[in-house]
Amino acid sequence: MVTRLYTHPIFLEHITPPGHPERPDRLRAIERVLDDEAFAGLDRVQAPEGDEATILYAHPADFVARVRAAIPDQGIARIDADTTASPKSWQAAITAIGAANAAVDDVFTGRADNVFVAARPPGHHAEKTTAMGFCLFNTAAIAARHAQRKHGVERVAVVDWDVHHGNGTQDIFWDDPSVLYCSTHQMPLYPGTGAKNETGAGNIVNAPLAPQTGSEVFRDAFLSRVLPALDSFAPDLIIISAGFDAHHRDPLAEINLTEDDFDWATGQLMQRATRHSGNRLVSLLEGGYDLQGLAFSVAAHVGRLMKG
Ligand SMILES: [Zn+2]
Repeated sequence: MVTRLYTHPIFLEHITPPGHPERPDRLRAIERVLDDEAFAGLDRVQAPEGDEATILYAHPADFVARVRAAIPDQGIARIDADTTASPKSWQAAITAIGAANAAVDDVFTGRADNVFVAARPPGHHAEKTTAMGFCLFNTAAIAARHAQRKHGVERVAVVDWDVHHGNGTQDIFWDDPSVLYCSTHQMPLYPGTGAKNETGAGNIVNAPLAPQTGSEVFRDAFLSRVLPALDSFAPDLIIISAGFDAHHRDPLAEINLTEDDFDWATGQLMQRATRHSGNRLVSLLEGGYDLQGLAFSVAAHVGRLMKG
């Protein structure tokens, strides 16, 4: 197995206000844990700058212009109650998109079996025309469309185990049966969407989890809803919206997973990637706000990607 890791120093320069949970230290914690010799075999590559035209795969041009206009020359600009931009946020967001699209290219050209992208800002809350929930652009959605446009595949699955529902990804693919969107998330919780009866064109599978549940309920949701949907859809590529805020230490939610659950879920998705997608699996960092919980969970996730 060749597992590639994309990151870039620009991701540390997307600055959020003091006390904001989505902070540069998250990536520093990930870099520290992946420095361990257990990860010496990772194929580490600096993320390339993204092609701005690919943002239009998921967002209209007037929205892109609105986000660009909101980037401040100095200080921090507020986009909504919890979403902000600093002077380097545009470049960070574009580079996150560049890394995700490059990861897709890598798994289609055989440069890597699977790829983990450690980037910020995250993306899964960004709707077609709304930046929200710490997210400016929907990186996972752009990468899914990039796979279809550049590599000519028909079906892409996005599996989102971030503890928050990926309202943005659901919004973008709501009427697009060529993309399957499966999400496990705490409900009720921000952003409020993600009920079981939100099914789009039959391509949306939501598996809400009650607060204070943990491993057993999460794995049951995976086994009974997410994996059967993947098996009947038979995707050409699996993209993971890999948030690690369902970890029991996370301060933003009340789901009690451990790093072992992320190891297990990664293994399950790798099996499906082997069965349906020629092993092609791309994992994009979303949330995860307790630094230790995040670091241990990423270590389990990336360790499983490397081991197969
Ligand atoms: Zn989250």
